Amino acid sequence: MSQPYSRVFNFSAGPCTLPVSALEEARDGMLNWNGSGMSVMEMSHRGKVYEGIFSETEANLRKLLGIPENYKILFLQGGASFQNTMIPMNYLREGQTADYVVSGAWGKKSQEAAKLIGNVHTAFDGKAGNYNDVPDLESLQYSDDPAYIHFTTNETIHGVEIASDPSLKAPVVCDMSSDILSRPVDISKYALIYAGAQKNMGPAGVTVVIIRDDLVAKVPEKQHPMMDYKLMVENDSMYNTPPCWGIYVCGLVYKWVIAQGGLAAMNKLAKDRSSLIYEAVEASGGFYKGHALPASRSIMNVTFTLGSDELTDKFIKEAKAEKLDGLKGHRSVGGCRASIYNAFPVEGCQVLANFMEDFAAKNG
Ligand code: PMP
Repeated sequence: MSQPYSRVFNFSAGPCTLPVSALEEARDGMLNWNGSGMSVMEMSHRGKVYEGIFSETEANLRKLLGIPENYKILFLQGGASFQNTMIPMNYLREGQTADYVVSGAWGKKSQEAAKLIGNVHTAFDGKAGNYNDVPDLESLQYSDDPAYIHFTTNETIHGVEIASDPSLKAPVVCDMSSDILSRPVDISKYALIYAGAQKNMGPAGVTVVIIRDDLVAKVPEKQHPMMDYKLMVENDSMYNTPPCWGIYVCGLVYKWVIAQGGLAAMNKLAKDRSSLIYEAVEASGGFYKGHALPASRSIMNVTFTLGSDELTDKFIKEAKAEKLDGLKGHRSVGGCRASIYNAFPVEGCQVLANFMEDFAAKNG
């Protein structure tokens, strides 16, 4: 099955596959955007033309996620990882405790960064099962009056996902880096959401932050400027030069998602894609073993192992020859990981499922 521009089926965990039509539009606008006489890369972020691109991008994200008026959208830099420090720098004061739910490697990194700044209570840590399971957030034991509760919806490395919006008493802070825009979200359940763009939104270098007004107001006095959410909001993400090109490409992806039918359509496609691969795992009679427990399975990153490292290497090598690229799992889980974000074609999952069946028959 041939892909446009001889592209492979790219199962990379991020940066990853983007919609071809968005890439084509970016290509076409590269030298002279919409008759402006210059590339988006070359225009001032403070000029009228870029202002138009920026505000349309922001408005489309607001529309897609149904973001209420009392939340601001920021396009920042430093990756999701920078938020791991920026959040406690702003909201974890002396004498307070922040609660962290650790359901995988990324939640662990968030928790570790917060520990450098203040008091942390770990409300859940799935380490004993090598993060193959997610908790029910509403029945965990939290500390008394936490400054906030942090969790990660989708653990990209382990392939486990919390795909619902919890009702919790404390402000909820959430890393949605690897599943944002894959399902409709009730934004009102969250105080702050952040996500690196390089999975479901666009190129690396842009971090989206969705922040409720009361948190903006709570930024401490004399905060370091680049750590100051309030300053970022007051300057509409342009306190310093924003990642202009990356934001523009995110805007093209948002338009593509809207044209596909929005987040409900993305969710259906994600379920179709992941089911094809999970079913291939199940049908193999134990040749492949899923890492995540069934109720915790991610619809973005499917993780599975094979009987030995040799067999895994052979699988990855032969898959690559079939243009199934980027399937090597992270070393902490081993085996394989198929990252299948919004722009990943469903037929690519069917090709992988067929390949898995053939490979198991030949090597089982
Ligand atoms: N959180 C999650 C869930 C991720 O998947 C990643 C990156 N893979 C990060 C945080 C870190 O993102 P960044 O590299 O943008 O700092």
